[in-house]
Amino acid sequence: LVPEKLRFLEELDEEQREAVLNSSGRTVVIAGPGSGKTRVITYKIAYLLQTGIKPSEIVLVTFTRAAAKEMIERAQRVTKKDLGEMTAGTFHHVCNVILRRYGSVIGIRPNFTILDESDSKDLMKIVRARFATSKQMSKALPTVAELYSLLTYSNNTLQSPYEVVSKKAKRWLNVVDVIERIFEEYSLEKDKQNVLDYDDLLLKTLYLLENYPDIRERISSKFRWILVDEFQDTNIVQLKIVEFLSQVHGNIFVVADDAQSIYSFRGARFENVKEIMKGANVFKIQTNYRSTDKIVELVNSMIPSSSVPKRLRAVRVGSQKPVIVNTYDHFDEAKFVAQRILEHVNEGTSYEDIAVIYRAHSHSLELQVELSKRNIPFRVLSGLRFTETAHAKDVIAFLKVLQNPYDALSWMRVLKLLENVGDVTAEKIVTQLLESESPIDTLMQLSVKSNDFSNFKEIVLSSLGKQPSTQIRRFYEGFYQMYLETHYPDFRDREEDVERLIEMAEFYDTTEDFLNDITVSEDITRTGMEKEEGKVTLTTVHQAKGLEWRVVFVIGVNPGDFPHFLAVKEGNLDEEERLFYVAITRAKDYLYITHSLFSRRDYGPFNEIQRDFIEDIPRYLVEYWRVR
Ligand code: ATP
Ligand code: MG
Repeated sequence: LVPEKLRFLEELDEEQREAVLNSSGRTVVIAGPGSGKTRVITYKIAYLLQTGIKPSEIVLVTFTRAAAKEMIERAQRVTKKDLGEMTAGTFHHVCNVILRRYGSVIGIRPNFTILDESDSKDLMKIVRARFATSKQMSKALPTVAELYSLLTYSNNTLQSPYEVVSKKAKRWLNVVDVIERIFEEYSLEKDKQNVLDYDDLLLKTLYLLENYPDIRERISSKFRWILVDEFQDTNIVQLKIVEFLSQVHGNIFVVADDAQSIYSFRGARFENVKEIMKGANVFKIQTNYRSTDKIVELVNSMIPSSSVPKRLRAVRVGSQKPVIVNTYDHFDEAKFVAQRILEHVNEGTSYEDIAVIYRAHSHSLELQVELSKRNIPFRVLSGLRFTETAHAKDVIAFLKVLQNPYDALSWMRVLKLLENVGDVTAEKIVTQLLESESPIDTLMQLSVKSNDFSNFKEIVLSSLGKQPSTQIRRFYEGFYQMYLETHYPDFRDREEDVERLIEMAEFYDTTEDFLNDITVSEDITRTGMEKEEGKVTLTTVHQAKGLEWRVVFVIGVNPGDFPHFLAVKEGNLDEEERLFYVAITRAKDYLYITHSLFSRRDYGPFNEIQRDFIEDIPRYLVEYWRVR
């Protein structure tokens, strides 16, 4: 006899329910794809709420902001409670919330702004230039992109740059001292500008929790439960943060699948799961609810060699075996996919129940052309992040200087939009602003030979302290719209984007909240903001994590494309196997794996690239189609 308010537990099976009901302390659920791990976490939240835990006492960490939103909506639906006060989102989001609140203890001003990846690289470029003073030195040093990955890898694995270079990039050993100085300077520069990059959000939170016991206690008593989805993709910093956050209560609930660990390039390590399992109640779920028996059989035969062997049991019966499709080249492949999509749609499947998954974004280009030709609506999950387009960045930079007038990069960006203001003038202005006690007052006193300048000053002045949507509107109507129209032939699309930004901003009272969401959330893509209904999804494997569709095409499964040649070269074939596993486990009813006679490029003489996933597939579990 289940009380009414716990009725939702009936939507779980025996194994799942046990995990949810396990009272306090550590719970780890280890299970394969499609077994309801995300559902279990969602219902655990609902259960906690129904047993008296307040939303503000829960931290939910998910892989994307969108995933958190979906889980919250479901938990709200079954409990009929408002979860607005729950801290939920990516690790970056959670850390950002903590640092805004408590960061002042370690010298972080609460109005800091956040550098996204491309901002970080811009700053790295400026700093690198100070050290690359000769042609010779410039050649010897890593490129900006290489410096950036070096730094973030060392941050996320808690190793010094020296350790990383001596283990993974020996070719730079002779300049490692310069690299270290570049990183120091990069860090000083961020302090000066009152900005944090993504890694800082994690590292500074860890530093705070590790070194300030009273704060740690305060935070970990405010929260009484820490729940993490996709725990197999956490890194060492994130593990430590979870441990510290739960120090007072010890209530951790995580779900993981070792076979789906696909972020080792960002320092993710499966050892974390073993670590968190110490002293934990461990639950295993063996039923797959997502895919048909025919797909599950294939999935069972493709379990990555690097992971714990396990068999999933299917409950759904399907009609069609997974299909291996042989095509001539990737143009034929694109034609086949488009054609087959239309056939499925004619048989009653909607566009949004169909996805095409690939290893690298560039593998989808022919398909995008083909879909457009046939008027098949689609959205690209892996596209350029909306906030990384030039015009969105311009608008965001304007908001950033209003929030944090020491944000030098953003000043540079905005000032250079003005007529007659180039690098030199902008730099001169920014130097003065950064040295000032009150940058905005200083700006008001400056005069610059540019027709736009006094107008710009007025826009800044009249925007201070206003709501973010008003700020964008003032900037846009007073200056930027004209700028777009005179600088870009496709200004109409860009104007539409800015107008969409204004609409989004209308949901926020403060610039800080708006900037937080838009700079920390990893899933605001240009198309991601549009309605998803009625569109086929195109996505990389990485972005497809945790999602599911009725019909799935995994395309470009050719040696060198998928498995990806770079990964193969670096000896990461295991991770490629896991990626392939993630890809095929997204399918509910129909799975097509396509490959062609030719890979995208001639990958030359890498022997290992001869590794062909198609050959690993047991013939009796699939159908073969040929379209040439
Ligand atoms: P992944 O490893 O891909 O993240 P997962 O283990 O998180 O998968 P979910 O996404 O939670 O799996 O669930 C997969 C599908 O199975 C979903 O459509 C979910 O609604 C459904 N499902 C899960 N548990 C049950 C159940 N007990 N009864 C019916 N359907 C279920
Ligand atoms: Mg999941």
